Amino acid sequence: MNYETVIGLEVHAQMLTESKLWCACSTAFGAPPNTHTCPVCQGMPGVLPVLNKKVVEFAIRLALATHCRIAPRSVFARKNYFYPDLPKGYQVSMFESPLAEGGWIDVETDGRTRRIGITRIHMEDDAGKLIHDELKPVSYVDYNRAGTPLLEIVSEPDIRGPEEAAIYLKNLRDILVYLEICDGNMEEGSFRCDANVSIRPRGQEAYGTRTELKNMNSFRNVARALEYEVRRQMAVLKDGEAVIQETRLWNDSRSATEAMRGKEESHDYRYFPDPDLIPVAVDPEWIERIESALPELPARKRGRFVDDYGLPPGDADVLTSKKALADYFEATVRDYGQPKAVGNWIMSELLRELNAEDRDVADCPVRPEQLAALLRMIDGGEISGKIAKTVFQDMYHSGRDPEEIVREKGLAVVSDTGRLAALIDEVMAENPGQVEDYRAGKEKLLGFFVGQIMKKTKGQADPKTVNALLKDKLGAR
Ligand code: ADP
Ligand code: MG
Ligand code: ZN
Repeated sequence: MNYETVIGLEVHAQMLTESKLWCACSTAFGAPPNTHTCPVCQGMPGVLPVLNKKVVEFAIRLALATHCRIAPRSVFARKNYFYPDLPKGYQVSMFESPLAEGGWIDVETDGRTRRIGITRIHMEDDAGKLIHDELKPVSYVDYNRAGTPLLEIVSEPDIRGPEEAAIYLKNLRDILVYLEICDGNMEEGSFRCDANVSIRPRGQEAYGTRTELKNMNSFRNVARALEYEVRRQMAVLKDGEAVIQETRLWNDSRSATEAMRGKEESHDYRYFPDPDLIPVAVDPEWIERIESALPELPARKRGRFVDDYGLPPGDADVLTSKKALADYFEATVRDYGQPKAVGNWIMSELLRELNAEDRDVADCPVRPEQLAALLRMIDGGEISGKIAKTVFQDMYHSGRDPEEIVREKGLAVVSDTGRLAALIDEVMAENPGQVEDYRAGKEKLLGFFVGQIMKKTKGQADPKTVNALLKDKLGAR
């Protein structure tokens, strides 16, 4: 039987606000347990939440960037369940009236663009964290994260494979990071994904029964979990059994998904509008102001890098993968020109160094104008391309200007004909046999002589000058 895979993703993105969603507590990560809490985020009786306006602004930014309709009026609702990390006994989310609906993100796989629908985007609060003691039968609870603002972004079941799911996620993450509303860190959990997946016979319109996968903390693991689950569901159907709607956990060390619990239905949560919070009514003028201040988004920047700079799409992908990297590229091109050459230097030399120490381009010790100066020195024939790479290493580790390094280390190209001629005389005197052979017609020996000169100049002789002088002197009897 030929099956089609159907995937829909629910993403939770932690907002980069300084304070929490309902109180003034700090959202800073890594503080000692329960130092960033107050009666509001501890869910004490009688407290009242006050909506953090910045979170609404961030949500509107994302809604605009993903082409959603923003509801003039949206409503916070209580999602009731008990868990020790949830002191209120309910999560505040949005249910019937979310902030934004009906958007999309374009995803490119194998050179083909597919449009993935965004069902909804809404705001909600995060829970605290349980810490389980490894030695004693005790669990601790840390409320520092309780009340941290999240956006939930729900996709339509439009995704047709694990690879497409990973690309959708990367695109969404890039948009969030470009908008400066989420740090997008999957390993640390500030960008989390639940993946819903089902299969159906190709050509059938009705969706199959889905399972929901949790606990994947990297793009790769999302793809691996989905691949595993598709294979598992196929085997279940092949055995004549039915897929059970349930939540399954990805077990990384076993590379398998495991049944966790039966899937809860939304009525299990007894949603109702939160009586402590009035509906959110957003002023259209505010939306316009936010829209006019939106940065250029990754997809548009990528397109512009291809159109305006003539870069291959692959290069444009890499160079726009981070806004700071794209800015670095553009600053260097403004100074030096030659986008393709600049791109090559950034993608090979610069990224190698940055990746080696996991350093952000924003903290790069080599400034764009210093890189431009180095490239100009190659063009001007002052240093060879090969020497330039060692100069670059020095620049990266010392932060010094290329001119200074070349001068101090004596790395400039030797094109002084007087000096080179003298060296050639020396080499010829040292190798009379080879001179004889060359003159007898073994012209391949020219390479040997060039090599000797390079040795004497530590690779800094100007090859053109050396070649011309050598031919001249070897040719003359
Ligand atoms: P819940 O919040 O209970 O998980 P939602 O209706 O919000 O339910 O849907 C969650 C996700 O599941 C959405 O991204 C949706 O696209 C996806 N989804 C729904 N039905 C299917 C299906 N049959 N196969 C795959 N994904 C599905
Ligand atoms: Mg779900
Ligand atoms: Zn608080």
